[in-house]
Amino acid sequence: MDFYEIFNKMNQSLNGLTHLDELIQKTPRKIDPFKILISTILSVRTKDKNTSTATENLFAKYYTPIMIAGAELEDIEELIYVSGTYKTKALRIKQVSKIIIEKYSGNVPKDFNELIKLPGVGNKVANCVLIYAYNIPAIPVDIHLHRVSNRTGWVDTKTPEQTEKELRKIFPKNLWIDSNRLLVKFGQQICRPTYPKCNLCPIIDICKRNFSKSFTKIKKKK
Ligand code: SF4
Repeated sequence: MDFYEIFNKMNQSLNGLTHLDELIQKTPRKIDPFKILISTILSVRTKDKNTSTATENLFAKYYTPIMIAGAELEDIEELIYVSGTYKTKALRIKQVSKIIIEKYSGNVPKDFNELIKLPGVGNKVANCVLIYAYNIPAIPVDIHLHRVSNRTGWVDTKTPEQTEKELRKIFPKNLWIDSNRLLVKFGQQICRPTYPKCNLCPIIDICKRNFSKSFTKIKKKK
């Protein structure tokens, strides 16, 4: 399978940026790995718009590990409220900030195995930090990458972790960094969880699922 061609076709059908790309665009001169890390923790189980709002609210007031570690928990909760599960996230963000100061001298680690030791940091968050903060090849698999990869038949897996493992075998390494930004957008705009736009899909000819026929059947029954 030619993933260069597939990625190119998908790219031509999409608009907009991921919330992390938007974040980087706002501060192009200096990418802040700490802000990328915190923003990615905030992005868990919420929409990009809410993640961006929560990140901007928090960093308008507290923008270093020392500041967040020293902030009142209730204050952090209020600032990130819009991101959902705000109590858990506020606690994790405060704990992460403290560990980064005490164990890593204020710097976000560049190593996957160190990153996943931080509270609230799983494979997806760690991989996002690697690619968006440090430009290190990785494949962060969220619900969109997991769904698209299974529907197309690239993988046959049950969990995002299994999907990541399989995609690492089949995606050429120099596409890893772009795979997240491309497939997240593709999953949000075309291969949506419900009502995927199969009739507009640029890769319908290589997709194993292709729901367009079942939609026609549903329409005819009505
Ligand atoms: S054909 Fe449909 S199910 Fe397959 S990748 Fe495209 S949108 Fe998703």
